[in-house]
Amino acid sequence: MNIVLLGAPGAGKGTQAEKLVDVHDIAHISTGNILRAAVKAETPLGLEAKSYMDAGELVPDSVVIGLVKERLEEEDTEKGFILDGFPRTATQAVALASELDKLGRGIDFAIAVKVSHDVIVERLSSRRLCRACGYIGNALDKNCPICGDVMYQRDDDTPETIRNRLEVYEKSTAPLIDYYRGADLLVEVDGEKDPDEVFIQIQKMLAH
Ligand code: ADP
Ligand code: ZN
Repeated sequence: MNIVLLGAPGAGKGTQAEKLVDVHDIAHISTGNILRAAVKAETPLGLEAKSYMDAGELVPDSVVIGLVKERLEEEDTEKGFILDGFPRTATQAVALASELDKLGRGIDFAIAVKVSHDVIVERLSSRRLCRACGYIGNALDKNCPICGDVMYQRDDDTPETIRNRLEVYEKSTAPLIDYYRGADLLVEVDGEKDPDEVFIQIQKMLAH
């Protein structure tokens, strides 16, 4: 099963992606995670991406598209994959379609996780992550409930950057919902429910 996850920053894409990966044994391709790892390792890609990410802007299409193409050529994606945070622009969506076409594969579902503006701002401001295992929690978690390591706040989860990321989302990414609806691939879920309930909704829609 090949899935695209759509939704504003903070909609819960990462959380749902982890669950889907566990249950369906598919590859998780998070462009945000790949870019953050590159920033941390100070690779040329990371150095290029960092300023965009800190400002809440999109990393240029050419960079991100190249990254995803390479990732899709890795063998583990043949059993299925979930794209989390990609595509984020019409150009990326078109490039993805043509790349998959070339590989003789295609998207089975585009899942849109819907959450209101207010809830997103609230969630992102209090979001904390585990350095060691990637667990996504909030400001109430002093230590990771999974592995006990320290939790940290992402550099781009600050009020000003959050505002910009939301604007960028509305302008560049939200139109992809119509794109996938037009291709008859869209399923929509209410992302304001708790994560387990959202996951149940998703599982039901995928079973249809
Ligand atoms: P969120 O969905 O919470 O905003 P991500 O972890 O998906 O976070 O992405 C973090 C940042 O990485 C984005 O704000 C952007 O700068 C960059 N990024 C991730 N995916 C893409 C993409 N497909 N195209 C361009 N930039 C991206
Ligand atoms: Zn942890």
